[in-house]
Amino acid sequence: MKYLDEYRDAPACQRYLAAIARITTRPWTIMEVCGGQTHAIVRFGLQELLPPHIELVHGPGCPVCVTPLEIIDKALALAARPEVIFCSFGDMLRVPGSRQDLQTVRGAGGDVRVVYSALDCLHIAREHPHKQIVFFAVGFETTAPGNALLVARAAREGLSNLSLLVSHVLVPPAIEAILSSPQNRVQAFLAAGHVCAVMGTAAYQPLAARYHAPLVVTGFEPLDILQGLYMCVRQLEQGRAEVENQYVRSVRAEGNPEAQALIASVFGVVTRQWRGMGEIPASGWGLSPAYRAFDAEHRFDLARVSAPEPAECISGQILQGQKKPAECPAFGLRCTPQHPLGATMVSAEGTCAAYYQYRNCESA
Ligand code: SF4
Repeated sequence: MKYLDEYRDAPACQRYLAAIARITTRPWTIMEVCGGQTHAIVRFGLQELLPPHIELVHGPGCPVCVTPLEIIDKALALAARPEVIFCSFGDMLRVPGSRQDLQTVRGAGGDVRVVYSALDCLHIAREHPHKQIVFFAVGFETTAPGNALLVARAAREGLSNLSLLVSHVLVPPAIEAILSSPQNRVQAFLAAGHVCAVMGTAAYQPLAARYHAPLVVTGFEPLDILQGLYMCVRQLEQGRAEVENQYVRSVRAEGNPEAQALIASVFGVVTRQWRGMGEIPASGWGLSPAYRAFDAEHRFDLARVSAPEPAECISGQILQGQKKPAECPAFGLRCTPQHPLGATMVSAEGTCAAYYQYRNCESA
């Protein structure tokens, strides 16, 4: 398949593996930020092909995984209201809140609809003027432009029956939280190519300099990842800590200024709670005061819910590269994709789910 097969080319991958082995002189720990990269690494067995002293650890870049229980419970409460049509991307339907998930609410009669674009909510709002349409706006910088466009268009049309339950999170503050932790062992990062296609690379320069950690913007196919790792290892071995771009076919240093302007016109930076990682200052976007009327948390009276994670779940440490799924006593036993206990098993992009899908429990 064009634009896919060439990035899975086995001889080219072998050449990068040989090049990595040739330049590696000591152990290095490298984190891929994005859940899509984690899946490619586990699916194609890239860790096993690398020199033994290159360790890959897996980051917090799965938006479904890091959406806090409190927000899921708010979504469930909204979806159960008779006047609400609750719209969401499909991957949020099975994410468990403290007692149930959106699919269960739908089974009990809630009007929960899967949309493929945030803008689908405009049609639903126009078709159902006597209903309240709520869109579940979760995700990283990648989904924010579409969600911002939804708000801008709804405001322009004067749609008063549409609102958003917002839980946007940002990658650079999460990287900083990992690098500044006393337990940190990550020495370099594969940054997420799609996030940088929107936001550019400027936010990563100060992180690379402050923490002396190379950051390589990387794509999602095996050849992308191996080339990104080669660029990371080359910097580490040379004592450099810079931002480099492997994903040149999609990412420009300045990102997408039009999308950034749209985001800035609708959202403002807020402190966010991350499932498994806790509160990170200035790590998300919420609707700016000018668009407060579209904020579902403002429009509806939603009880504050505090739901603790299961005590045995170590997903917070997994999301920060401190542990691997095999170190969790519940992995594959009490915690499976069918019955997830924690953040990194709830989504197909989560690290525990990737290890469960592509490896048996013993080799995880
Ligand atoms: S296997 Fe389940 S319980 Fe264990 S860390 Fe992963 S999500 Fe948490």
